[in-house]
Amino acid sequence: MAFVVTEACIRCKYTDCVAACPVECFHEGPDFLVIDPAACIDCGVCVPECPVEAIYDEKDLPPEQHEYIALNKRLAAQWPLITTAQDPLPDADHWAEQKNKRGLLTENTEQV
Ligand code: SF4
Ligand code: SF4
Repeated sequence: MAFVVTEACIRCKYTDCVAACPVECFHEGPDFLVIDPAACIDCGVCVPECPVEAIYDEKDLPPEQHEYIALNKRLAAQWPLITTAQDPLPDADHWAEQKNKRGLLTENTEQV
């Protein structure tokens, strides 16, 4: 079991979660963060830190967010580690309100 970043994070990247995590779990893509399930110690500290409630315990994941389990694992292997908080994306507050953002996720770090 591990914690999972879900759709609400796409195009926000507030990174409050990174500052809270006691170990090095988070990996950064162009417009999304993921948790490495092999590094996560299941402490749950990051959950209340996320302003858009994007992080779930895997066992509590809403059914429509189930694909994010595999997505976090796959992208954590591809993307670089992030260990300190950064400024959010410039239009993060706009995107925080939006639903159905899965199609906007940029996986290739060379596209940015
Ligand atoms: S705090 Fe939430 S929105 Fe921000 S990077 Fe972490 S998971 Fe994504
Ligand atoms: S649950 Fe704990 S260890 Fe896992 S990503 Fe969140 S803060 Fe880090």
